[in-house]
Amino acid sequence: LAVHLVAFFFSKLQEDPTKKVDRFLHAMRLQDEQLVDISSRFLAEMKKGLSAESLAAAAVKMLPTHVRSTPDGSEKGQFVALDLGGSKFKVLRVKVREDEETNKGGVEMEEKTYPMPKELYEGRAVELFDHVSESLKDFLHEKNMSPEKKHPLAFTFSFPCEHPGLDQGLLLSWCKNYKVRGLQGKDVVQFLRQAIDRTGDMDIDVLAMVNDTVATMMTCGFDDQFCEVGLIIGTGTNACYMEELRHIDLVQGDEGRMCVNTEWGAFGDDGALDDFITDFDRDVDAASLNPGKQIFEKMVSGLYLGELVRLVVLKMAKLGLLFDGHVSDALRTKGKITTGDVAAMEEYRNGLKNTKEILTRLHLTPSPDDCVAVQHVSTIVSFRSSNLVAAGLVAVLTRIRQNRNLRGLRITVGVDGTVYKTHPQYPKRLHKVVRRLLPDCQVRFVLSESGSSKGAALVAAVAQRLISQRRK
Ligand code: BGC
Ligand code: MG
Repeated sequence: LAVHLVAFFFSKLQEDPTKKVDRFLHAMRLQDEQLVDISSRFLAEMKKGLSAESLAAAAVKMLPTHVRSTPDGSEKGQFVALDLGGSKFKVLRVKVREDEETNKGGVEMEEKTYPMPKELYEGRAVELFDHVSESLKDFLHEKNMSPEKKHPLAFTFSFPCEHPGLDQGLLLSWCKNYKVRGLQGKDVVQFLRQAIDRTGDMDIDVLAMVNDTVATMMTCGFDDQFCEVGLIIGTGTNACYMEELRHIDLVQGDEGRMCVNTEWGAFGDDGALDDFITDFDRDVDAASLNPGKQIFEKMVSGLYLGELVRLVVLKMAKLGLLFDGHVSDALRTKGKITTGDVAAMEEYRNGLKNTKEILTRLHLTPSPDDCVAVQHVSTIVSFRSSNLVAAGLVAVLTRIRQNRNLRGLRITVGVDGTVYKTHPQYPKRLHKVVRRLLPDCQVRFVLSESGSSKGAALVAAVAQRLISQRRK
C-alpha cells in the first residue's frame, strides 16, 4: 500500500499541468459532433433570417446588401474609401485600373490610419462624423487631391445596417467598443454627407456603404472568381456570402444572387447557444457595452478573447489551481490580458517565455508549471474560437452547396481581421476543421490584405461598371 501511495503522490506531483486545465475547461473543448450540432443550428438561423414570416423574430439578421455581383476584373476608377469600425480608422485612396499590358485589373492603394479618440466611441454621432470628415479632408489635402474636383467615395462601416439601397444604411445597433448616441435607426450615409458639408471645402460623392465582410469578399473576388464568402475575425466577427435572390424575401426578384451579410455575431442572442455557454462567457457578456447581444461574437472575437483568458486564469488562481492561490490586483482588472497577449502566449518558440513575461507584468510569480497551464488556457480559448467560426462557416458553405444542388463545391473564402492575421496558429486550425467537416468541398482561404478597406472601392467600381453597361 505504501508503495502505491508513494506512486500515487508522485504521479500527482508529476502531472502534466495541461491536464488540470483540460478538466477545468472541459466545456470549452468542443468535439466534432458538437460543432456539427452548432453548425446545423446556425443553418436553421440563416433560414429564419431570410424568410419573411420569421425574420422579425430572428436573432441572425441576414441583411441584404444590394451587392449583386462580385468583381469581374474589368472595373476601373479612382476612389476615396473610409474604413470605420474595426481596430483602426482609415482613409484610403484606391485606384482600380486596367493594366494596359496584361489587360488584367490591378488595385493600387494608399492609406492613412487616423487616431480615434476614446471619447468618440461613446460620444455623440455628430462628433464622431465630424472627426471622420475632418480626417477625410486632411487626407485629400495630404494627397493633393483637388477640393474642386468631385471624388467618388466608398464607405466600409463595420456594424449591422439595413440597406434600402447601396448608398443608404440604417444602423440597427452598435456593438464591439462603440456606443455612440443618436445614430441607431438612422441613415449613416446621411450623417456622413452632412458632416462633409459641415467640414466644407470638399466635393464628395458617397456612392456606396458596405459592411467589412462584403468589402473583404469583393477584394478577394477581384483576383479569384470563386470567392463568394467574406469572413472577418477581428475586433468583432461576421461573415457574408452570395445567396440566391429567390431566397431573399426582403428583396424583389428571383434571378441571380445577392450578397447577404449574415451578422452571425448575434447567433445565440435568443438562447440558441445556451447549452454551450460557460460562466466565463456570461461574465464577459455582463461586463460588455451590450449585454445580451452578440453572444457568438463574444465567444469568438478579438475584443473578448483576452478577457476570457483573464477570467479563467483568475478563477483558477482563486481556487488554488495556479500561482499557489495568489491573485494580483492587475489580474482582477478588466482588460489586463489582451488578445495580443493570447497570440503571444501561443507563439511557436517563445510562447512560454512570453507567458512568463505577461504573468510577471501582472505582478504574479508563476512557476514553470503555471506558465504551461496558462499557455494551455489560451490555447483552449482561442481554439474554441476557431472551432466556432468553423462551425458557422460550415453552415454557410453547406447552404451555398444546397442552393446550387451540388455535392461538392469549389469555393474561396476571403478573410480579414486582426485575430486571423496575427494569431500564429489560428488560420491553420480553422482551415483544418472546416476541411474535416466538409470533406467534399474544396475550400480555399485567402487572406485579403486590407480587404475590408479596399473592397468598398471595388463595390463602388462594380456599381459604376454595371451602370455604364446598362447605358451601353
Ligand atoms: C458587426 C459586423 C462586423 C463585424 C466585424 C460585428 O460586431 O456587427 O457588422 O462585420 O463586427 O467587424
Ligand atoms: Mg476591419
